[in-house]
Amino acid sequence: MPSTFNILIIGALFCVVMLLVLISLLRSGTPGIREWAVANGLGFVALLLYAFGKELSAPVAYEVANGIYAAASAAILAGFRRFFSRKLHMRILAAAVVAMVAAIAVFHYLIDSFALRTVSVALFQGAICLGIGMTIMRSRQAWRSRYPYFFTAGMAGLIMAGHAMRAILYLSRQGELTSLLQPSPWNLFFLSAGTFVLPVLTIGAVMMVHDTMLAKAEHAANRDFLTGAWSRRALFELAERELSLTRRTSRSMALLLLDIDNFKAINDTWGHATGDQVLIDAVLRAETAIRGVDYFSRVGGEEFAVLLPETSRSAAVMVAERIRITMEGSAHAIHIEGQPETPAYTVSIGLAMLRDTDSFQELMRRADAALYAAKASGRNRVACD
Ligand code: GH3
Ligand code: MG
Ligand code: MG
Repeated sequence: MPSTFNILIIGALFCVVMLLVLISLLRSGTPGIREWAVANGLGFVALLLYAFGKELSAPVAYEVANGIYAAASAAILAGFRRFFSRKLHMRILAAAVVAMVAAIAVFHYLIDSFALRTVSVALFQGAICLGIGMTIMRSRQAWRSRYPYFFTAGMAGLIMAGHAMRAILYLSRQGELTSLLQPSPWNLFFLSAGTFVLPVLTIGAVMMVHDTMLAKAEHAANRDFLTGAWSRRALFELAERELSLTRRTSRSMALLLLDIDNFKAINDTWGHATGDQVLIDAVLRAETAIRGVDYFSRVGGEEFAVLLPETSRSAAVMVAERIRITMEGSAHAIHIEGQPETPAYTVSIGLAMLRDTDSFQELMRRADAALYAAKASGRNRVACD
């Protein structure tokens, strides 16, 4: 049979391991990591104080240990609030910790009851877990995948249920259970489970940090930094996938190549920053003119490609015209602080349909030839190959 002392020491060491893992992630700059690290540091100290409770004077073993553990739990919640950029109610958290320590003192000095101390802890920890669960579930728009968030919110729910069970059980067996360090089966069970609380919530937090870092890396690799359109690299990967799908299903696919007309003149007249603004505006406009399944990509300086899966020639011509017209409507739409006038721009578009023997490079080459024809015949127009 393990002793309560051993369980608490294992729990304290767990906190140290999690602290070391969090330190390795500090470099990512993800909000919340500092709070989670503080929580595990405090958890380590509190669990050591619980473990050596018999050798310590009463206020240290009871009020100080519980106060530090409560602060650790509050710090875990604070980490989740920071991670999701949610408002942090520091005063409420601090007041809750103080209230819990006061309750421990009352049920220690005035009415000496282990069961009521356990209920106080359960209420506090239950509220913290509820806060964690609600923070995660209400921040769905920030989730990049599902598993890390459901895992952590689910664990917070389980811990809440565990605390409720413990409070009910200890209240109903007041005569038998008298101290945290008593090696009764129930005490050993709850202490063992409790040992995992901080580490499990921290593991959930670490999974969430990894998820964010992965999403950031994917974004950096697949999206153009200036405009947020698909990068050239991503377009080529997506095109290979769409190409084989189109072949398998015998559907048609179109590619548009867009080039902003006289862009050099815009840069020369208005400056490079305004040129950048035009590029951003072009992407925003084009995205209103295409479907969710189409891919709009920045393939070069002021050149863009639009991949249109499952699209006939006539539909592709309509999309191209729609894009051309929305760009033409840019006159006086871009307003730059401190500039008396605003630039307008137009685009020329080359359209090519996928042929049976085409590679994506070949399709690009034909769309480029059409684009060249659109430029040669006067700009601000759509040409088909
Ligand atoms: P055309 O109508 O024939 O397409 O003429 P153009 O002036 O648009 O063509 P050109 O290819 O000569 O000019 C493209 C310019 O785009 C040159 C380059 O300095 C500018 N450019 C490329 N990338 C960026 C960028 O990220 N930001 C800005 N502001 N300009 C860029
Ligand atoms: Mg160009
Ligand atoms: Mg151009």
